[in-house]
Amino acid sequence: MIEAKLAAKSRADHKTKIRISEQIAVGSEEILIIGGPCSVESLEQMEQVASHLALAPVQVLRGGAYKPRTSPYSFQGLGDAGLKILAQTSQRYGIPTVTEVMSIPQIEAVVAHADLLQIGSRNMHNFELLKAVGKTRKPIILKRGLAATIEEFVFAAEYILSQGNPQVILCERGIRSFDTYTRNVLDLGAVVACKQMTHLPVIVDPSHAAGKRELVASLARAAIAAGADGLAIECHPEPSRSMSDARQALSLPEMVELVRSLRPVAAAVGRRVAIAPTQCQLSAA
Ligand code: PEP
Ligand code: MN
Repeated sequence: MIEAKLAAKSRADHKTKIRISEQIAVGSEEILIIGGPCSVESLEQMEQVASHLALAPVQVLRGGAYKPRTSPYSFQGLGDAGLKILAQTSQRYGIPTVTEVMSIPQIEAVVAHADLLQIGSRNMHNFELLKAVGKTRKPIILKRGLAATIEEFVFAAEYILSQGNPQVILCERGIRSFDTYTRNVLDLGAVVACKQMTHLPVIVDPSHAAGKRELVASLARAAIAAGADGLAIECHPEPSRSMSDARQALSLPEMVELVRSLRPVAAAVGRRVAIAPTQCQLSAA
């Protein structure tokens, strides 16, 4: 048994619910759906995503401004300009946002522009960064390291919790294995184990696990059936033109359809997907 003092359940029904806005929380009956492009590319792109996804509904808008890319020659994200676009879109559409923070000096700007901070897989072992985000008051989505054991994953959460920030959301996003057909291997066993061991909400990112758009919806449904508290999914107005992770991006109609398909699965495991607002409610807002 892992000796995580703060992440571990104190009793069987111990669950932490993390509030994201007045209407939105994760870790309760309702499933949290996060959607958006891999990278923020332009204001127009983010507005198209936000307006379309309100129909799904997607409750949190994602988009990377600082991008951890395998090659230093690939698009590295719009940086500070990307954060501004994210914040503008959020204000205009009234949707909370999440974006990755890659280093300690970026924390201040990301805290000022986004509602949740994401620690990416490549930084799950960056203990100084974990401690630094542990001193903020924003919810943190902690992604599992590319080759991190479940124990290392939970201890990474413990680093954040130990600094006084109780709002940690674990995110399983696939781990490296020998098979290259999928980008990574989605470890649903880890979702079940983390839910049993810890009181923290656990979400799943099937996009980075699959690496191929045609696998994403089925993995998303499997994640909900396995007890995940939410999903983080990449989608784009023109998937093939995404500046990063084009191969795994869903189109916006595919994203809406995916959310619709989750409803019966969620109901079968005693969970719920938020009801989409009608066009009429949207135009009144
Ligand atoms: C991302 O979510 O944009 C991302 C880079 O994911 P990961 O850290 O899981 O690779
Ligand atoms: Mn991506």
